[in-house]
Parts: sequence; structure tokens; C-alpha cells
Amino acid sequence: MHGKKERGYDYTPLFRFLLSKVGEDWNEIYREASSRLDKTEPIYWLVAMKEEDEKEYVRTGESTYFSGMYVDDNEKLRLVNPELQAKNLTPFCDCCTHTLNGKVFGAE
Ligand SMILES: [Zn+2]
Repeated sequence: MHGKKERGYDYTPLFRFLLSKVGEDWNEIYREASSRLDKTEPIYWLVAMKEEDEKEYVRTGESTYFSGMYVDDNEKLRLVNPELQAKNLTPFCDCCTHTLNGKVFGAE
């Protein structure tokens, strides 16, 4: 059975904040983001600090995905795959609403 809500803090505002800051200075983004959080761990769910951790997209909930990010050599926040859009992804079931960065995918 899908569709159960994950318990605990909702980090969606953080993920949206990070997406809105792509291309900007990582140190400033990190300072602002961490000042709003109870812990900094969720930042690293989306932002890879090592090349081997980079992912095009990250599953943050039952059927919720966000674009993976990394910090480039100039300390700027970047998308791992800037071309990735909701329509590129395929839902794994018919009963849930799947989203990438808040955009529904797989809906007819
Ligand atoms: Zn489902």
C-alpha cells in the first residue's frame, strides 16, 4: 500500500530553497539553509559532496523526487543533470501522485 505520509519534519521547503539557488555561491546557500534547520543532514540528501554520490534525482518520499545537485570547483551549486524534467521519469505505480521538484509526472 502506497500513499502513506512519512513521519517527521517536512524538508520540502529546504529542497525548494536549494533548487531556487542553483548557480549561486554554495557557502552563502549553506549558511542560510543551515540557519533554518534542526540538522544539516537533509541538505546532503540532495547536494552531493563527493562525485561518486552525485545522482540525477533523489527520492525524498514515497513518490516524491527532487533533482540531485553538487558543488562545482568554483563553489557554485549545480544540478547534476540540468536537462532532467518530470516528463523524463516513469512512475512505479498507478495509485500515487509522483512528483519531481513539485511537478507531477506520469499523469495522463
Ligand atoms: Zn502507489
